[in-house]
Amino acid sequence: MNEFFTGGFAIRGKGTSMEEESQDRAAVAEKASQLEEIAKEVRKCCKCGLGSTRTNAVPGEGNPDARIMFIGEAPGADEDAQGRPFVGRAGQLLDKVIQACGLRRSDVFIGNILKCRPPQNRDPRPDEIISCLPYLQRQIEIIEPEVIVALGAHAARTLLNTNKPIGQLRGQFHEYYAGIGRPPIKLMATYHTAYLLRNYTPENRKRLWEDMKKVLAEIGLPVPEYARK
Ligand code: URA
Repeated sequence: MNEFFTGGFAIRGKGTSMEEESQDRAAVAEKASQLEEIAKEVRKCCKCGLGSTRTNAVPGEGNPDARIMFIGEAPGADEDAQGRPFVGRAGQLLDKVIQACGLRRSDVFIGNILKCRPPQNRDPRPDEIISCLPYLQRQIEIIEPEVIVALGAHAARTLLNTNKPIGQLRGQFHEYYAGIGRPPIKLMATYHTAYLLRNYTPENRKRLWEDMKKVLAEIGLPVPEYARK
């Protein structure tokens, strides 16, 4: 019954009775409203210097009840222009990865460590990360995904609070701690799609796809027939 209304992947509620289904839907609506509150705060935010150089803040978007969250580094020029995450070339490749998983963009949540574009796409600075990270932490607490996919070194290192190189972090599950009393969330570190575009070798593509297959297995989703290789 849930699948009839939601497309199956989207809502995780286990309710089977009409009453339970209506409670599930109310819980997801509450998550959506909390996420919208954060998005409003982000759009007004001037906690760091990026507040005065951005065109649009990019709060993140997607399913408020997503089982998978993809987290990148920071918006680029296209994202800054549109106020939406991963809409440029790296985003188009991320869309392909999501589709290869048998999912739609609207099934997952996509966000970034920084909500505003650093000028000339320079690396995020520590003071910017410190100012911005609480927004993402709150988004993760609300969504409670089963898996976080950290795209690239900045996302993986920030969320895992480590300086280890991405080569050491990639391809394995780590644990993200969302707060005291909350169970840790599985975090898969993988290549950023922008890195993959710059280094589009069969080996790198295979590595990213192997990482995604682990994510699908972790949450009990089948690898689609067309992507089994
Ligand atoms: N790269 C990122 O890290 N995030 C985006 O939103 C786009 C490109």
